[in-house]
Amino acid sequence: MCFRLIAITIVLAVVPLFIMRGTLLLNIQDKLWSERIESIERHSSYLASQIVKLNYFDGENEIIINNLISQLDSIYDGRVVVVDENFTVRKDSYSRINDKKVITPAVIETMSGGSTQPNYDKIYDMVETVVPVTDGGGVIRGVIVIDASTQDLTGTYQSIKLVSALVAAGFSVILAALAAIIGRAFTKPFKNVARSINRISEGYFDEEVHLKGYAEIETISDAFNAMLKRLKELEDSRQEFVSNVSHELKTPLTSMKVLADSLNTQTDVPVELYREFMQDIAVEIDREDAIINDLLSLVKMDKKAGDLNISNVNINEMLELILKRLRPVAAKRGIELVLESFRTVSADCDEMKLTLAFTNLVENAIKYNVAGGWVQVSLDADHKYFYVKVSDSGIGIPEEFQDKIFERFYRVDKARSRETGGTGLGLAITKNIVLMHDGAIKVKSKEDEGTTFTVRIPLEAAP
Ligand code: ADP
Repeated sequence: MCFRLIAITIVLAVVPLFIMRGTLLLNIQDKLWSERIESIERHSSYLASQIVKLNYFDGENEIIINNLISQLDSIYDGRVVVVDENFTVRKDSYSRINDKKVITPAVIETMSGGSTQPNYDKIYDMVETVVPVTDGGGVIRGVIVIDASTQDLTGTYQSIKLVSALVAAGFSVILAALAAIIGRAFTKPFKNVARSINRISEGYFDEEVHLKGYAEIETISDAFNAMLKRLKELEDSRQEFVSNVSHELKTPLTSMKVLADSLNTQTDVPVELYREFMQDIAVEIDREDAIINDLLSLVKMDKKAGDLNISNVNINEMLELILKRLRPVAAKRGIELVLESFRTVSADCDEMKLTLAFTNLVENAIKYNVAGGWVQVSLDADHKYFYVKVSDSGIGIPEEFQDKIFERFYRVDKARSRETGGTGLGLAITKNIVLMHDGAIKVKSKEDEGTTFTVRIPLEAAP
């Protein structure tokens, strides 16, 4: 990001800056040279007019004109050559070619009435202009050739070039530095987020990020902290779950070990005791098996709704079947199971999973009931949902535990749950199944009076 910002600054600001400097330099160069040429031409024209006026070519007033010529010579630090119409040099300020013939193309062209462009000589850094000497009747009487040095212009131009290069370079450095500072200021919060994410990847869930500055960054920071909180909760619940699982799985093993050890340490153990202890061990094995089975169901239910095996299910028939299966269990304690259907309901759902969910509820209603009590299951529906109520005349759940009973391994009365073969996972499984179906589950209970679980499930599965 930082480097990209510097690159963008260079493309958008520094490159145009240098292009601008180039054009400016060209303009300045053009202006400097054309002004110099204009001035030379003005002076030459004046000299030409004086040559004609003072009849220089006829040998008159030579001192005045020669004075003018040497003035011009010193102004332009160059050479002034006056040529007459016979191409004979009448005056060379260098006195080298006096009275010699000059037939350069520029002189010939000017003499014959044409005009020539000033000629710039790069090597000697000079400009040569040729101006005609025309009399009052428009007849060309000769030409003036001035070779003027432009070294002073080149000097000025070079120093402008140098200063502008320094200014542009200075600007570029300042701009790049600014881009780097801004880039860093922009990227710093993102780097902090990245650092926090890395810390989380390493397993540290306890660090929050606090980013200030721009509203967007603060939004990201808040969203990030919310996600972090959720991760922390998940991690805590995972750790608690693992420790609960270990504990639950160890309990039957410990009992078995105690039973086996007491048999092993005793000599001459009667067969009856052996049998009794072995039966106890078998009970513990069944318990271990039940826990493992429930755990496996729970792990399966932890997956997403996409794992549901949806079909159109007749809920009345499903509930009847559940009650039919559980009636013998209820009968053992003289508990009556009743189904009350207000209408025929069919819904898109996972039959196996819902059967397990409602079986858990009815089983609990039997387990935590009083001898000779009753369990009532009712089914109703509106245009969107169906509702299953499982009410019992049992021991009830104290208010303070009602929120907790859906947690994994939570039991109000451990001893009672153990006696009845409970694992503490039944309601967790039921709740997961209901949530997988986009449904809801509620409990209402009064101690020593009874409990009612209400389940609401949509009639149509979400697409
Ligand atoms: P468990 O295997 O112990 O029955 P559950 O997850 O099914 O585990 O239930 C958790 C706890 O909720 C039970 O141990 C019990 O204390 C309480 N509970 C569940 N259903 C009822 C009910 N119908 N009446 C009274 N208590 C209940």
